[in-house]
Amino acid sequence: MKEKKLTDCYKRVIDYVRISIIDGCNLACTYCMPNGNGCKKITTLSKEEIVCMGRAFANCGIKKIKLTGGEPLLHKDIISIVKELSSIAGIDQVTLTTNGILLENKVKLLKEAGIFAINVSLDTLDEEEYKHITGQYGVEKVFNSIKACVEHNIPVKINCVPIKGYNDDSYIPLVELAKKYPVDVRFIEMMPIGYGKNFMPVKQEEIEEKLKSKYGMFYPYHGIKGNGPATYIQWKETENGKWKGNVGFISAVSHEFCDSCNRIRVTSDGILKLCLCFDKGIDLKKYINKSDLRQLEEVIKQGILEKPKHHNFNTKDGSLENEQKNMWEIGG
Ligand code: SAM
Ligand code: SF4
Repeated sequence: MKEKKLTDCYKRVIDYVRISIIDGCNLACTYCMPNGNGCKKITTLSKEEIVCMGRAFANCGIKKIKLTGGEPLLHKDIISIVKELSSIAGIDQVTLTTNGILLENKVKLLKEAGIFAINVSLDTLDEEEYKHITGQYGVEKVFNSIKACVEHNIPVKINCVPIKGYNDDSYIPLVELAKKYPVDVRFIEMMPIGYGKNFMPVKQEEIEEKLKSKYGMFYPYHGIKGNGPATYIQWKETENGKWKGNVGFISAVSHEFCDSCNRIRVTSDGILKLCLCFDKGIDLKKYINKSDLRQLEEVIKQGILEKPKHHNFNTKDGSLENEQKNMWEIGG
């Protein structure tokens, strides 16, 4: 059978979708949802909506689905969502990005449901700093979750957003985890979306300098790793396996990678987002029909053709409106 391929106007193959399944969260990260969910009505996509979308995406050529939020582990049907999506023909990987607070007890069930890999967001290993960033203590819980994933042989990536004045001394302790455990540690540049606009991004080069003075000069990793935009660096110790994990960067603004963008997103209210940067989207919920997915598939295929060539975080030019939604609705 011929392999299905979803391609946009710029010949980019789109094979990865991130679905924000819930906009509620149990943390209140200062750059994402600083006031928590207290006064807000929580929106979720239903299991049926998510699975219908998953089937339609697979029929169009999508191969990887990342579940995100808000906090996806707060969705009451998270385990069966993972199970159903994993069993869709054509979907090779169902993964999750989580703050890890509720993960430890769910690791076994997620593994049985078919989870392929998990990204855990952890900006610091210092409990006080963690509380300063997220509104509550949680490092120990998150760390236990990471260990549980490792014990269950689930590949884990730790994602840290460097925030000036909050976690400046956290880079080395986090990188040390990649030395001891089979986990990759990536530094994600702060993006000017939602509350992230209030923060100056820490330059990748600044973090690289800190790593250089601790571990010596590194060199770029040229192999392929993972689904997307992360660039990895290595030392002799990572190359020869003395360290168990790897270290990487995702710097969407300062090291733009739009030319190789392979992804689309669905927000927690069911809007297909073609680029993180822009407001433009298509309401997929209107087209969901469990017994006939053809219209939904057509809307997705046509929508992809509208995917912008690149973001305008740096230039602020162009005719498209910039995104007004918050990161917890978009899913990162
Ligand atoms: N709650 C889950 C978590 O924290 O992993 C999933 C949703 S969260 C929105 C997904 C990722 O987006 C997290 O790693 C978070 O640190 C990151 N994020 C949130 N706001 C951001 C911003 N303005 N720039 C860059 N990353 C951001
Ligand atoms: Fe919640 Fe994740 Fe946003 Fe933090 S980054 S407030 S954990 S959605």
